[in-house]
Amino acid sequence: MTVRRTPVPDILIRNARVLGGEPTDLLLRDGVIAEIGAGLSAEGAEVVDGTGLVALPGLVDLHTHLREPGREDAETVHTGSRAAALGGYTAVCAMANTSPVADTAGVVEQVYRLGQEAGLVDVQPIGAVTVGLAGERLAELGAMADSAARVRVFSDDGFCVADPRLMRRALEYVKAFDGVIAQHAEEPRLTQGAQMHEGDVSARLGLTGWPAVAEESIIARDVLLAGHVGARLHVCHVSTAGSVEIIRMAKARGVRVTAEVTPHHLLLTHAKAESYDPVYKVNPPLRTDADVEALRAGLRDGTIDIVATDHAPHAAEDKECEWAYARPGMLGLETALPIVLDVLGEDWPLIAERMSYAPARIAGLDGHGNALTAGAPANLTLVDPTVRWSVDPTGLASLSHNTPYAGMTVPGRIVATFLRGVPTVLDGKVQK
Ligand SMILES: [Zn+2]
Repeated sequence: MTVRRTPVPDILIRNARVLGGEPTDLLLRDGVIAEIGAGLSAEGAEVVDGTGLVALPGLVDLHTHLREPGREDAETVHTGSRAAALGGYTAVCAMANTSPVADTAGVVEQVYRLGQEAGLVDVQPIGAVTVGLAGERLAELGAMADSAARVRVFSDDGFCVADPRLMRRALEYVKAFDGVIAQHAEEPRLTQGAQMHEGDVSARLGLTGWPAVAEESIIARDVLLAGHVGARLHVCHVSTAGSVEIIRMAKARGVRVTAEVTPHHLLLTHAKAESYDPVYKVNPPLRTDADVEALRAGLRDGTIDIVATDHAPHAAEDKECEWAYARPGMLGLETALPIVLDVLGEDWPLIAERMSYAPARIAGLDGHGNALTAGAPANLTLVDPTVRWSVDPTGLASLSHNTPYAGMTVPGRIVATFLRGVPTVLDGKVQK
């Protein structure tokens, strides 16, 4: 008789500070946190020294562009998974604007399988709301929900579901299985030809502006629709003070709305466009100092539920060109936690809520976003908050280099990440 052995060795993390608390040991065995406490011993376990490190639940990104299928020259599920693990993530939600678009069970299952093959983070596909992201008729939402990928989040991200009747029907449809529509809020008729935030900088540079009201008017409409239908709405990459105000009001009225903010909208402003460096071109655009302040306040008080990266890799020919022709978007996975640390400070419980617990809840990912307690899935990351490092675009794992933080010194280094007890990152190095 043969005894079936687990191929994964037990791991004993020594002296890590869970959410910044007192140092303790964590024993990872069979995919879960088997024990947690001071002075644990485990024969044969691989020991990871966690002295000085903070243990966080594995981060969850609700908004990642992995570019596969279609633009494997910019990113693949595998390279994006590497970037995610190095950023402390154990799960990412892959946006639907691939080529072909993830608007059928077949495509979402393909992305899901590629994620499993890469094996570094759980890749949860997001399904398109409309066929081909064209905004004309609903995609096969039910078939994607019933597929092996078990899709619960639907988004036409990159495009807005601008037709209110279609938006209403999408909300009604996903309500049946507690799905959520994640809206890229942009009234297209107000942003035709837009290149950057509409304000004093755009006026000075002579670039067509993307006004705050184009975002706010869609969010106002959508929270009313979501309230009317009683379905869940998620607002992608909130970028203006007015949007925060509308979401705060909607939540007070009991609307089932959640919202995300990106690290770049928490840190950078439209003043960056003065350089004409297209690395700062992003949709929605970088806004004003007052918007940044309102987004930070909204994130602290819970009006904004989560930080999501909107990781948007682009090949050099699509990004390193004239501003007007450059594609919008920035890398985010490997720098998200450092930027959030920079903005929020070392408020580890708040960081765990905004970057792990809440995004997992919104996406319906039961195995992620759990508190680090005995019996919980061993999805976690170890951070050294004392290390400051300089961002080098060519040193990132992403296939693309369009980070807006090149040369910046940021706090916090991911030392190790574990997916169901298996190290995906050790000593700051990805394991696959
Ligand atoms: Zn978007």
